[in-house]
Amino acid sequence: MTANPRQKPVFRFAPSPNGPLHLGHALSAFLNRDMAISVGGRFLLRIEDIDLTRCTPELEAGIYADLEWLGIDWERPVRRQSEHFAEYQSALERLIDLGLAYPAFMTRGETRTLVAAAEADGKLWPRDPDGSPLYPPDDRERSDVDRRQLLASGLKHAWRLDMGKTLEALGEALSWEETGDADRGLIAANPGAWGDVILSRSDAPSSYHLSVVLDDALQEVTHVVRGLDLFHSTSVHRLLQTLLGLPAPVYHHHRLITDAGGRKLSKSERDTGLAELRGRGLSPTDIRRLVGL
Ligand code: GLU
Repeated sequence: MTANPRQKPVFRFAPSPNGPLHLGHALSAFLNRDMAISVGGRFLLRIEDIDLTRCTPELEAGIYADLEWLGIDWERPVRRQSEHFAEYQSALERLIDLGLAYPAFMTRGETRTLVAAAEADGKLWPRDPDGSPLYPPDDRERSDVDRRQLLASGLKHAWRLDMGKTLEALGEALSWEETGDADRGLIAANPGAWGDVILSRSDAPSSYHLSVVLDDALQEVTHVVRGLDLFHSTSVHRLLQTLLGLPAPVYHHHRLITDAGGRKLSKSERDTGLAELRGRGLSPTDIRRLVGL
């Protein structure tokens, strides 16, 4: 499916209220807003708050305050992902019905222990493009009887995509259109590099990957402008879009703002937080300059 050519371009800034916004977010928000204005498009703000343990109303209020201070205006109402769990759940059920998802019972700690033991044994454990170990095959290889018993016992579980089975069923190469700061043009997607990606977590009824593709489609987003740290995730997004029959936006992955040591900014670094900088008397123009705009 391709986007309707007569549709106005739609951009979105989609922060998670799990920490205060920093300079990296300011760059992303400015770029989205500026690009939307330059092509006569719309600019949306989406609150990605599926992680109910880390996202707070105070941090969400901070996002609105920071953007208002920067002089960035967005369309109302704002879509808040925590209000749409049922929609993500029904997409998950479609993937389960297609036989492409399985319940994953291993906790993060158990996975870590298993991988560490294998590595201590001299095995080379495959890693995803972010450097995290791929999910072990144990749950995928379970018998149906075993799986049903564990589910019936009420054991907490996530749902994961059976990547091998999915790619086999799909049988086509995927790609996306990229206009960003690193690679440009048609980029070949490589979802297999992520292994059995998570679709819903044991502590949240969705996952970043699933909710982001559903919301981008539902909000008719035509241009996804976000940091280069999410470049490789786009492979997973293209796969889910294809499985769920959703249109593919154009992607623009922008440079990251790094700290003095060249590392990507984290939400815990206070000296780059927007509220902190505002408190120190910096102006929105200073922020634009600091992020190189
Ligand atoms: N919510 C994600 C974040 O704050 C961004 C998701 C996206 O732009 O696709 O990192």
